[in-house]
Amino acid sequence: MQIDPKSLDALLHPQFDAKALKSAQAIAQALAASPGAACGKIVFTAEDAVTAGQNKEKVVLVRLETSPEDIEGMHYAQGILTVRGGMTSHAAVVARGMGTCCVSGCGAIKMDEENKCFTLNGKTYREGDVISLDGSTGKVYDGAIATVPANANDGEFGRIMAWANKYKALAVRTNADTPKDAHQAFEFGAEGIGLCRTEHMFFEPDRIAAIREMICSDTVEEREHALAKLEPMQQGDFEKLYEEAQGAPVNIRFLDPPLHEFVPTEEADIKALADAQGKTVEDIKQIIASLHEFNPMMGHRGCRLAVTYPEIAKMQTSAVIKAAISVNKRHPEFKTTPEIMIPLVGEVKELAFVKKVVCETADALIKEAGINMHYEVGTMIEIPRAALLADEIAKEAQYFSFGTNDLTQMTFGFSRDDAGKFLDSYYENKIYESDPFARLDQNGVGKLVAMASELGKKTRPDIALGICGEHGGDPSSIEFCHKVGLTYVSCSPFRVPIARLAAAQANIRNPRNSK
Ligand code: PEP
Ligand code: MG
Repeated sequence: MQIDPKSLDALLHPQFDAKALKSAQAIAQALAASPGAACGKIVFTAEDAVTAGQNKEKVVLVRLETSPEDIEGMHYAQGILTVRGGMTSHAAVVARGMGTCCVSGCGAIKMDEENKCFTLNGKTYREGDVISLDGSTGKVYDGAIATVPANANDGEFGRIMAWANKYKALAVRTNADTPKDAHQAFEFGAEGIGLCRTEHMFFEPDRIAAIREMICSDTVEEREHALAKLEPMQQGDFEKLYEEAQGAPVNIRFLDPPLHEFVPTEEADIKALADAQGKTVEDIKQIIASLHEFNPMMGHRGCRLAVTYPEIAKMQTSAVIKAAISVNKRHPEFKTTPEIMIPLVGEVKELAFVKKVVCETADALIKEAGINMHYEVGTMIEIPRAALLADEIAKEAQYFSFGTNDLTQMTFGFSRDDAGKFLDSYYENKIYESDPFARLDQNGVGKLVAMASELGKKTRPDIALGICGEHGGDPSSIEFCHKVGLTYVSCSPFRVPIARLAAAQANIRNPRNSK
């Protein structure tokens, strides 16, 4: 009870040497988006991070914001610094997943991407200059600061973690999209995968070409042709996740992001896509323009994609079910039971529509295989309307997972990516105490979570209730989840030990059931 769960970060990530840090002068303070300490030479593009990383150079990737195309570079960087974005921005979520240090929303930086430099406090920093980042405090430093490595391998850590398991009532799952992240999370004691964001599986160079073809299709046939290329890749990914999980639950969330995030921006990529599709460059540019949305977070994403293009849900279901069948053949002892999660539902009929596509596809495949395999279809509760109507939604959903990133965004009515620009004034003026994207707003968003849990249980008394927004790894939010009776929390791999300890402390303070 005396350990602050967040202090485990110091064991799980490299930290600055305390003495060296004392004499260092911070040059900026922004959001502590992903813990740990990093120092390295500045690079401005993901490609430069990859090249430097492959040459064993330590680099800090500085970007206005990151996008899925930056993922490879993010893997090679010691740390990531972004000018824009909040605690649930792409950079923050992906870096936390990787366990890489990240400071986001550093608005004090005046970026000049073209000339590969930025200005901060009147000084210009160029490619190759060394900076240091503290992802646990959000501070940025000029020059190099000595670091000490992570150290969670001694027996004491394992001993405390075993106590945590003994006392907690909540299960702790992980948000993981790759076998590597899943492996790390299971090492840290995760009891399943609570969120696999499938859109994060499409950004390898060979996949992005196929998904671009899918998006820029004019006919169902064209779209199905492109989806057929993606299906075996997805199936392979899911098989690897099921193998890592060894029978623990794996909750696969169907495609969620606005489609325009996938379309090419570079001329060469547009030309390549046009050639692959037998279209003109002009045709492709028109399709890209037609995908533009003024408010993409509230646009054509989530289950809306499956309503307009049911063939996407069909392909993803097929990949999930075939993967489970194949892993169950190789490892009958796992008894893999797929969980398919439909995002951004706000209306039960919308869920029923997509679920019908899922069940028809899954049932046919299971019948064809001549086996008996159970699977579940659940939904995210991340739109206030879904929380208000959770009793109706539970008629179709076999489980709920609270997507508190979007639920926070839509309950407050401010963007999860841009709110950092004005929230500081809210803290200074004591309007809000803390970032609602990092720590659950228990009065407002929490009220929706509690209410939807009760409504869901009314319809389906044994409904499993999870949380997979970033709050699932925050100790005070975990205590709230425990109190309102959720079944599990799900968080990025490096937060799993923190969540286990926080869940145990919550159950000691407010005993739910004794083991
Ligand atoms: C959420 O909205 O809380 C969630 C987990 O989904 P995503 O962050 O992918 O929108
Ligand atoms: Mg969401």
